[in-house]
Amino acid sequence: MDCIFCKIVDGQIPAKIVYEDDKAIAFEDVNPQAPVHVLIIPRKHISTILDIEEEDKGLIGHMYSVGNEIAKRKNIDSRGFRSVMNCNEDGGQAVFHLHLHILGGRSMQWPPG
Ligand code: AMP
Repeated sequence: MDCIFCKIVDGQIPAKIVYEDDKAIAFEDVNPQAPVHVLIIPRKHISTILDIEEEDKGLIGHMYSVGNEIAKRKNIDSRGFRSVMNCNEDGGQAVFHLHLHILGGRSMQWPPG
């Protein structure tokens, strides 16, 4: 499967990895939209939110726990941050390997664009 994030998981292409464990890895977004912009991905290939299966539910919770850990390490936890998973075209998804965006270090706007 030709998936850029699977290639990051496999070490075939480089990324600035800030966290990794047996289930997930987190790395700096190559095109940051905020002073802090980290992506958390499962090692397992899941294309979109719609492809999350019953057996993945713990994994999704784990991704949010990793997001909390990243927020603390990056000192954006007390001021706050945004966590986003985009889905399909209208959701603005460009990479079809599930990822949780952690954005912080500036005030976020609502509604999002
Ligand atoms: P989305 O639009 O939700 O699918 O987000 C995809 C994100 O992946 C974007 O913010 C991109 O900047 C980011 N991205 C794409 N390729 C890479 C890469 N090789 N390393 C790090 N981030 C990437």
